[in-house]
This record gives sequence, C-alpha cells and structure tokens, in this order.
Amino acid sequence: MNYRVLGTTNLSVSEIGFGGEWIGKMSDDAIREMMIYASERGVNLVDCWMSDPAIRDALGRGLAGMRDKWIIQGHVGSTWQNGQYVRTRDLDKVRPAFEDLLCRLNTDYIDLGMIHYVDEMKDFNAIVEGTFMDYMRTLKETHVIKHIGLSTHDVEVAKHACLHPEIEMIMFSLNPAFDLAPAQTTLDELYASSRIEGCNNIDPDRARLYALAEHTKTAITVMKAYAGGRLLDAQASPFGVALTPTQCLHYALTRPAVASVLVGAESTDQIAQAIDYMSATSEERDYASVLAQAPSHAFAGQCTYCGHCAPCSVKINIALVNKLYDLASLRPDENTGAQTHYTELEHKASACTHCQACEPRCPFGVPIAQRMDKAAAFFGC
Ligand code: SF4
Ligand code: SF4
Repeated sequence: MNYRVLGTTNLSVSEIGFGGEWIGKMSDDAIREMMIYASERGVNLVDCWMSDPAIRDALGRGLAGMRDKWIIQGHVGSTWQNGQYVRTRDLDKVRPAFEDLLCRLNTDYIDLGMIHYVDEMKDFNAIVEGTFMDYMRTLKETHVIKHIGLSTHDVEVAKHACLHPEIEMIMFSLNPAFDLAPAQTTLDELYASSRIEGCNNIDPDRARLYALAEHTKTAITVMKAYAGGRLLDAQASPFGVALTPTQCLHYALTRPAVASVLVGAESTDQIAQAIDYMSATSEERDYASVLAQAPSHAFAGQCTYCGHCAPCSVKINIALVNKLYDLASLRPDENTGAQTHYTELEHKASACTHCQACEPRCPFGVPIAQRMDKAAAFFGC
C-alpha cells in the first residue's frame, strides 16, 4: 500500500480508503472479514457518513480491536430521524447524533470530523459564521475530533473550504465523468488531441479547485470515484464505455491534492479489486485511451446512489430504488436479484406523491419523482 500525507493534518493515509455506505447489506462476519482483510493490506482510512444505527453498529463491530489501525472520517450533521437519514444543522439533533456515532463505533475520538454534505454557499456561510462551527471548534479543542474537514459535491463550496483557515481537508466527489467538460460534448471532440494526459479538458472550475487545494495544502479524500458503479458498466456509463476500478482509481489519484480514494465496497472481493491498483501496470491504469474511444459524455441527471436526497416524505429509500431499477432495467435478461430485493422493500416507488421535496437535495439533478414513476412501472408496484 502507498500512503500520502493528508495535507496539513500530517496524517499518513492509504491511497485506497474504505467508504462504508454499502455495508448494510452484509453480515457482521462478512464486514469483519472485509475490515481485517483491508487492514492487513494497509488500508487505514474509513469514512462513516451514514446515520443508520444498524450500519454504525456493524461498522463498530467491524473495527473492534483495531481502532488504533484506522483513521476515521466521521460526519457531523448526519442524523437519524423517524427511521431515515436526515442532514441537519440543528445542534439539538446534531450533538446526539455525533455522540451516537462515537458510541456505536466504540471510540472516544474521531480523527477527521467532517462538516457533513455542504453543497450551497448559503449553508456554508451559515455554518462557518454560526454555532455549528462553534460546536466543531469545541469538539476539536476537547480532542473529540482531531481535525476539521468538510464534505461537498459543490466546487464553489469546496473552494471556500480550501480558503477557510480552520478547515483542514475536504471530501469531494471526483471522477472523469464529473470532471470533464463540457457535458453533452462528444469525447471524440474532446479527445481529438492528447490533451487529456495533462488534464486540460477538465472543467476549468474544477481544475481551479484542485489547484487551489494543492496550493492551500487542503488535501482531498475522494468519494464517487466509480460514480456509484456507473463508470464500471458500459451500459450505465455516461461515456458509453466501461472503465475498470484501477482506471477510475488512477484518474482520481492523479488529480492534484488528492490523498486517498474511499472505495464504497460491499464485499471483500471489491476491496481486493481496489487494492489490486497498487500492483497494476501503467497499461492497466491507462484510462485515457479507453475514454478516447468513448462515444458520448452526458452525466447530469444520472443517479449515483449517494443517498443525499433523503429523507423522503413517504419514507422511500430513493437511492436504493434507483439502484435496483438501474440494475434490473439495464440488464433485463439477467437475474440480478433486483426484482426480489425491490419486492421486499417496505416503501416502494409507487408510494411517491411527487412532492419533489427530495429533488433540491440531489447534487446531480436527478428528476427523482419521474424516476420513481419509471421504477414503479418497471417493477409493477
Ligand atoms: S417526490 Fe417522491 S420520492 Fe421525492 S420526497 Fe416526494 S414522495 Fe419521496
Ligand atoms: S437521486 Fe440524487 S441524491 Fe438521491 S441517491 Fe440519486 S444521485 Fe444521490
């Protein structure tokens, strides 16, 4: 495993980290096996943004006896209300939710206390100028968190975070589909020259962010490196071609300021696949020649299953419904298990009232109510 210094925190983090958001489907034994496997191969960074008590408990059991081997990114502002994830700045809810995280992970400190999911400047300004930041400071002063970070999908917020003297690192969604500009332009045009090697086709705003992060030594930990798995599947990929995990990881790890990529694995095999990056050849890492053959590039409106649209007013698990719908509809002839899993859901897409309360919370502009209709029609309920 290779390690990089996480900006001004001076923590040494593994290039491959672990994002725990999909462990909810795994048994305790499988989680434990995966955590031990990852740790033995040098993975030392884990992200837990999830507020679901069952997932926190499972992760806590997975980490048992290994606390000193892991650097934990724990999120402040991710809460569990009425059986659903809710992002909030209400400190009466934020405080107990963070204490719950410590308790369920069985630790008395979090290495990287992340201000959770800030995608609007209005929200950012309110946080840094208000009591939320006071709370973060108190956590840091009392050593309950060692460093202050912030997670975002928004370039403007990320830039401001880089310039904020108290925010030491950011977690940012980064992959070639999000980076390459302009959306809706064919890659044949984009890659008519070999400019991709120098990252010159990147969206200028995003390029400026990475340069700024490098300049201010604000390290980036990466989420969505596979775009929720879409980049690994030619039918789902906005490029129309599939990349391998190694190619996605290489893209992310070769952006300025990136220290680690958090891989959202749901099996030991998937972690192993990511760790294979370490021994991959330069040919295996070469994403550029694959993208150069890509027929299209259009990402806006596609779900990456991030879950940030929650809560749903009728308790639909939107991310899961979207994932199952994509799985089943993109491979109608294969038994993906999606139909069975969907049938077992307590709150199905057909319950959607089209209130659209969820849509402004989606960082990727997914027309969620429409997608719920499509999923309901596809699954028949
Ligand atoms: S539009 Fe549908 S999915 Fe979105 S919050 Fe309303 S009921 Fe839930
Ligand atoms: S609809 Fe948007 S917010 Fe919800 S899971 Fe998909 S990408 Fe994430």
